[in-house]
Amino acid sequence: MNELTDRLDKPLPSIKITCTSVDCANDLHCYLQKKRTGNNPSFGACRSCGVENVDWERAHLRDPNNISALFDELKTELIRQHMWTKPFDEDALRKLRKLSAEEFRIRVAKRLQSSVGRAANAWDSRQTPMEGNVIFYAQHATATCCRQCMLYWHGIDKNRDLTEEEKQYFLLLIDRYLEERGINELRENR
Ligand SMILES: [Zn+2]
Ligand SMILES: [Zn+2]
Repeated sequence: MNELTDRLDKPLPSIKITCTSVDCANDLHCYLQKKRTGNNPSFGACRSCGVENVDWERAHLRDPNNISALFDELKTELIRQHMWTKPFDEDALRKLRKLSAEEFRIRVAKRLQSSVGRAANAWDSRQTPMEGNVIFYAQHATATCCRQCMLYWHGIDKNRDLTEEEKQYFLLLIDRYLEERGINELRENR
């Protein structure tokens, strides 16, 4: 509790972080391309400084053996890095602590299905809030927040539903993120 308060006391960045925010001088970029043409993959170099940090071909293989390399790459995009390091809000922690590990796991799968399981619609890229649930943090951090992010980070066509295999992979990413954020300790520190 004290540790959390301490961290919240530190000045947070005054700018509002959005999907296209960059801080290239601090090696935090945005790989979503400016020009969008239909279902064009829309990935590549940083849209602002042009640096190439991501092996897209490898990322799009969605190979569980490559997760740590993928995580390193995700953390070079400003929006993801933000969601990787931002302390969880009180509301999110409260919700986490209400559920057993098993109940929580079921909740994550449901949330993945309801938010990104189906083909993209007009609401896409607005379906995942920035706070209020640790699952939302995990989704932004792992680029499973919307079909647009899944298209460029994971190479998945926006215009179709996810397959069972893809869902399993994304659940694994979320799981690994939560593990890295110390979710089990947070759950017990009531
Ligand atoms: Zn950049
Ligand atoms: Zn997104």
